[in-house]
Amino acid sequence: MSPVSTPVVGVLALQGDVREHLVALAESGALARPVRRPEELAEIDGLVIPGGESTTMSKLAVIFGMLEPLRERVRSGLPVYGTCAGMIMVADKILDGREDQETIGGVDMIVRRNAFGRQNESFEAAVDFAGVEGGPVDGVFIRAPWVESTGGAVEVLARHRGHTVAVRQGDVLATSFHPELTGDHRVHALFVNMVRAVG
Ligand code: GLN
Repeated sequence: MSPVSTPVVGVLALQGDVREHLVALAESGALARPVRRPEELAEIDGLVIPGGESTTMSKLAVIFGMLEPLRERVRSGLPVYGTCAGMIMVADKILDGREDQETIGGVDMIVRRNAFGRQNESFEAAVDFAGVEGGPVDGVFIRAPWVESTGGAVEVLARHRGHTVAVRQGDVLATSFHPELTGDHRVHALFVNMVRAVG
């Protein structure tokens, strides 16, 4: 893959807002496709894990035989971007999860599920995002998690009300909020560029 080519970016399609990510990725210069089976992991240059419900996603990942293949592919350097439930899925540790809830991991952080949820089920806020030019992004938070703590290799890219809401570790990116719902694809473009850089 040459740096200017169109990388193939999958969207984990077990559950969640898959379609919105496919559109955002296509409009950011990627060839976007849904991914459900382990074989399909070999055919992608990057992967988005959508928002949705992380407990259900975790359960389906086990049922579909995807959990271990996903862990292996992420360990071996596949660029991944997780939004909301997807952020929970790439956390090495979670708080307020279900007892049997599994994550893929990849980011040395502790993420608290539904952290913004109780008071404000859903809200939007302007979020300053390191590495995204052109002003703050419109953060859509829906029963959103936040990052409780991070290890030394994790770069904090955005905060909201003092809480970490966007991080990067190596080629894994995660946000508490949903850029795929806003029509502003700068965060997806950042991720597609990360995928290009690896390719
Ligand atoms: N609260 C959800 C969970 O735990 C995440 C919500 C979302 O993805 N919008 O998975």
